[in-house]
Amino acid sequence: MIPRNRRFLRAGGHWTIRRGMGHIQPARQKAHPMARRKKLYEGKAKILYEGPEPSTLVQYFKDDATAFNAEKRATIEGKGVLNNRLSEFFMTGLANIGVPTHFIKRLNMREQLIRQVEIIPLEVIVRNFAAGSMSKRLGLEEGTPLPRPIVEFSYKDDALGDPLVPEEYIMAFGWATQQDLDDIVALALRVNDYLSGVMYGVGIKLVDFKIEIGRVWDNDYMRLIVADEISPDSCRLWDIETGAHLDKDVFRRDLGSLTDAYTEVARRLGVLPTNVTHATKPTPIN
Ligand code: C5P
Repeated sequence: MIPRNRRFLRAGGHWTIRRGMGHIQPARQKAHPMARRKKLYEGKAKILYEGPEPSTLVQYFKDDATAFNAEKRATIEGKGVLNNRLSEFFMTGLANIGVPTHFIKRLNMREQLIRQVEIIPLEVIVRNFAAGSMSKRLGLEEGTPLPRPIVEFSYKDDALGDPLVPEEYIMAFGWATQQDLDDIVALALRVNDYLSGVMYGVGIKLVDFKIEIGRVWDNDYMRLIVADEISPDSCRLWDIETGAHLDKDVFRRDLGSLTDAYTEVARRLGVLPTNVTHATKPTPIN
């Protein structure tokens, strides 16, 4: 039984319950400004909705965590709120040093307004120290410093497990041109310089990270910009003093509380959100 003092809110064809109202009646549009927006895509950690203006999207950060190509899954309360803030922080910092990104503005605890891009189907990985798949592939001890930052590409395909691909494949299959790749490497290295510096300043070593790149068009002119997210979900971050992992490896390797690790990163960077436990859920539509 639903208590009489709750009422349903109509949200894009579904009814949801709102506390403390006298009777059942459809909500006014104003109560849920985003209620009728269209869901365009749902991934493992984020949902994309149609944005309020042409060529914009709303990016919603979920609490879901997955690893090993979604074989391991969990819901980690507050993760989406932290990643929304952290991605805002990094994307804003990049814009301030002239690196173009998809970020426009944060809308609320879990959502940000972004530019719509055509995602290049590559995961662009930058490594400063050996770890993860590189350590496995080459038999290098995790934490071994690399002679210089190394940029590598994986083909974005969950079913295939995002396989590492050489530039030759990327150009032959038409995912990006040589010019695109030169631009992507330059962007990735600038992101690396920025992120390494910011992290070093708060006692964290940037071991490696992944970014995604999108194409945008200004009339006939195409530009490449940083898209998706930058957060501890997509970086390896080690405490410089203790070596403690402050990233998704905490979840992948069962090393403790992921929320505590991400909160520590946010706290050091001065972007700790308040009200984490009162985070909103996505509007249940579509
Ligand atoms: O697993 P691997 O060592 O190749 O990961 C390198 C970096 O890229 C890590 O920081 C990892 O979190 C990130 N990554 C990611 N999404 C993937 C694969 C790797 O964010 N699908």
